Amino acid sequence: MAMIFDRIAVLGVGLIGSSIAHAARESGVTRVVQLYDADPEVCQRARELGLGEVFDDPAKAVEKAELVVLCVPVGAMAAAVEAAKPGLKIGAIITDVGSVKQAVVESVGAKLPTYVYFVPGHPIAGTERSGPDAGFAALFHNRWHILTPLPGDEREAYAAAVDQVEEFWRAFGADVERMAPDRHDVVLAVTSHLPHLIAFNIVAMAEDLESVTESEVVKYSASGFRDFTRIAASDPTMWRDVFLNNKDAVLEVLGRFSEDLAALQRAIRWSDGDTLYALFDRARRMRREVIEAGQDTSAPNWGRDRD
Ligand code: NAP
Repeated sequence: MAMIFDRIAVLGVGLIGSSIAHAARESGVTRVVQLYDADPEVCQRARELGLGEVFDDPAKAVEKAELVVLCVPVGAMAAAVEAAKPGLKIGAIITDVGSVKQAVVESVGAKLPTYVYFVPGHPIAGTERSGPDAGFAALFHNRWHILTPLPGDEREAYAAAVDQVEEFWRAFGADVERMAPDRHDVVLAVTSHLPHLIAFNIVAMAEDLESVTESEVVKYSASGFRDFTRIAASDPTMWRDVFLNNKDAVLEVLGRFSEDLAALQRAIRWSDGDTLYALFDRARRMRREVIEAGQDTSAPNWGRDRD
């Protein structure tokens, strides 16, 4: 693989940041990876893992980097940029991996100097783990990466910057699509944000239910509950920031979900088996479509394939 950038900087060395460091080395897209994390223990761990050149100062970490990848929680993006700003190279490309796009476009956009190019993005790839030990190079293989280029940036070099970021993610084995930020936020509210909210809610509710002891919940979790606990193990800071920054889309989808849930409740109360069957059958067909689209396999691995 040809080198795309001489130096890249990764701010935030958690699951996504460390995976980028691994993938960058494996793919050869860059010569040097410069890293910074707000947590000194994470910096120390990144050094031990040999993820790249680790800096204690964000402005130093981005010096000379042609690409800067923001890998911090959505609510910390603006602060990360603000702290790194004095070191940004003229003409550097800034991208991010935040799970919400419109809020990041606004908050980061407001902080960036005019001499850099901002290409927001989101890898549709992840696990419920976090921290620098969680990363692995193959995380982005055969996964979508959504770029939400800024429609208002009409500088000639901007289009070339977007193409370079696309090439960068393709080098990690990702499939890249471009989308408007608000569209991204609605799609992800349906496919990711609401499912996580439901999982957090079910797991917390089961723990609270007085009629079932916690030990029974754990003992019999082999049925559907266990899969919810895997999703609900995701990082609380990351998910708090997702919901605080994608309010409109999540509330819209949640309203629709609550209405449909009430209809299911009614069908159960009135023993309306036809309604229940029709909905479950439709949902099962959706699962087949996801597998056919290559977004999962039909193997009953129960999420254990990397344990
Ligand atoms: P993570 O494992 O929790 O790592 C985030 C790291 O960023 C932490 O070490 C955190 O340190 C550090 N950090 C926080 N504020 C910072 C700042 N201002 N400057 C530098 N470092 C800072 O998180 P992650 O799962 O990699 O997620 C990172 C981003 O990727 C989020 O925006 C998330 O929405 C997005 N994303 C995640 C997934 C996923 O499945 N996890 C998938 C796609 C996209 P502290 O712990 O001290 O705060």
